[in-house]
Amino acid sequence: MQQRVVCEVQVGEVSFPVHAITLGNPSLDVPAIGFFGGVHGLERIGAEVVLAFLRSLVMRLPWDGVLHRQLESLRLVFMPLVNPAGIARGTRANARGVDLMRNAPVEAAARVPFLIGGQRISAGLPWYRGEAGAPMEIESQALCRVVDDELLSRSFSLAVDCHSGFGLRDRIWFPHAHTAEPIAHLPELLALKRILDQTLTHHRYVLEPQSRQYLAHGDLWDHLYLRACEQPGRTFLPLTLEMGSWLWVKKNPRQLFSRHGIFNPLIEHRQQRVLRRHVGWLDFMARAACSHRRWVPLDEGLRGALRTQALAHWYGGAADV
Ligand SMILES: [Zn+2]
Repeated sequence: MQQRVVCEVQVGEVSFPVHAITLGNPSLDVPAIGFFGGVHGLERIGAEVVLAFLRSLVMRLPWDGVLHRQLESLRLVFMPLVNPAGIARGTRANARGVDLMRNAPVEAAARVPFLIGGQRISAGLPWYRGEAGAPMEIESQALCRVVDDELLSRSFSLAVDCHSGFGLRDRIWFPHAHTAEPIAHLPELLALKRILDQTLTHHRYVLEPQSRQYLAHGDLWDHLYLRACEQPGRTFLPLTLEMGSWLWVKKNPRQLFSRHGIFNPLIEHRQQRVLRRHVGWLDFMARAACSHRRWVPLDEGLRGALRTQALAHWYGGAADV
């Protein structure tokens, strides 16, 4: 297990390091998975879910032989606190007022919702993209470098980015965010949905393209996914977990009066339940990455059939809520 500082965010006198932690086989021949949290500083629970999973792996290292066998054929990378200044200040954006998830050079193909889809009016308003034509923020660049080095360098990789604050259900989003156009990897995603449904029975996740909820400019995962698609023979599936925080608010309406309360479970037993549930899903994802050859469809006929079913399921107007 190794850790390195991939960038330093300077805010006045204080310097915040952004860490990347890697474990498992460094060979480029094995698949990889990346876990990301704290892109939005206010959504602390996302960072806590990633840290809870990392902690459970570290605690298993001294005794768990099955984990060691998994690590021989898998690379894992963790970036639990992508936006440490935002976490320290309790803001969605970084210290310069930029929303990192609106910061990539990707333009939405159609109208985006006002403000929330990304805006260049002012860093004083939420969902600010940064100046047009400016380089990405250093935190965004650091995330892209880690994805380039550890994930896109391999023929198969997954990414999981943990967020909170959207609605009553726990959602798992895949690209695109910038267009309602379906991605090329629908067969893989339907195959992943099948093994998820079969393995974590009674799970409460809704797996869907982000574009089913809203379109946005500047999505980092769209940017990286499009880049991965330029390399033939590469499969990179980035997923965003959006934990449905309104459920926590509904059960404890006092949370509405706290800025943190809208995005994070404030009651300890609820926080523990949230961590337990999602750590189980992260472990499932690590196994799915490791064993991708057993579930990713390769046969062209099968891929075509899965694509047709996926289009009907996600783009045919069928309700899945
Ligand atoms: Zn978020």
